Amino acid sequence: MDRQAKIYVAGHRGMVGGALVRRLRDEGYDNLVTRSSRELDLRDQAATRAFFEHERPEYVFLAAAKVGGILANSTYPAQFLYDNLMIGTNVIHAAYETGVRKLLNLGSSCIYPRLAPQPLQEDALLTGPLEVTNRAYAVAKIAAIELCDHYRAQYGCDFVSLMPTNLYGPGDNFDLTSSHVLPALLRKMVDAKERGAVSVDVWGSGRPMREFLHVDDLADACLFAMRHVSEAGPINVGTGVDLSIGELAALIADVVGFEGALVFDASKPDGTPRKLLDVGRLAALGWRAKIELRDGVQRTLHWYLNHREERL
Ligand code: GDP
Repeated sequence: MDRQAKIYVAGHRGMVGGALVRRLRDEGYDNLVTRSSRELDLRDQAATRAFFEHERPEYVFLAAAKVGGILANSTYPAQFLYDNLMIGTNVIHAAYETGVRKLLNLGSSCIYPRLAPQPLQEDALLTGPLEVTNRAYAVAKIAAIELCDHYRAQYGCDFVSLMPTNLYGPGDNFDLTSSHVLPALLRKMVDAKERGAVSVDVWGSGRPMREFLHVDDLADACLFAMRHVSEAGPINVGTGVDLSIGELAALIADVVGFEGALVFDASKPDGTPRKLLDVGRLAALGWRAKIELRDGVQRTLHWYLNHREERL
């Protein structure tokens, strides 16, 4: 990928796409193509195809998706399935039709069966039932991996699929009903500290185990894969380390300086009991995560305090 290459970052307004654009610009790539979802609805096949024919990108990072936390996923499954199936199918097929040199497809660790052996290896895909709270999203992401792999096998397309674990960082969604756990707890604890509240609600039992990857680490992995990886997917990206939601809440409280109580709300779902990725495949290819969770949470807190006015 030379510095003049024309690169399309799909989903550049999102947390992942935003991190990719920052990183690409930092490295001197200045021939980037982006479109907001208002300018180009990737669920629209004709519009997506016309865009690819007009712009003719050489490289594509597919970071556009409808995403959300456990509540959003279980409340709007039809939208999570339809939007993500359409986005994935339209972008991957248009990339094939217009001769894109390489495409990087981003999925999620929720593609693996709910009770697959931990840490989750790539070959656990399609070996058992999915977690019900994000099954719709997972099915769309599995379809995109299958498209990439079959287009590689049948048409010789260089389409690679990375499966990041739970992500966090600058540009995250801090809306309490639709966000993931890390930004939600960060915001709740900042608010509680400022209001002098004595407790913060933590959904579920606090026992589920989760792994968290800073989005700048993911952007680093995406560039690495674009440059050095040319294999069928899925390929896991994570830190290889997890902790319980209770431990995460305590860590965030410590970073924020919130000294009140953590109250676990059993009326909210726990979701999958554990989803730690086996990151051996990408490690063998030469990549590993660098940002420690505490450091990453600190940076995200800093970002949130500087940007919350514009996001709310
Ligand atoms: P998941 O990884 O797909 O389950 O998505 P989430 O990041 O939304 O949730 C992870 C875990 O954190 C679940 O067990 C949630 O119940 C728990 N959790 C605790 N407090 C919160 C919160 O305030 N918001 C969210 N989204 N999850 C929370």
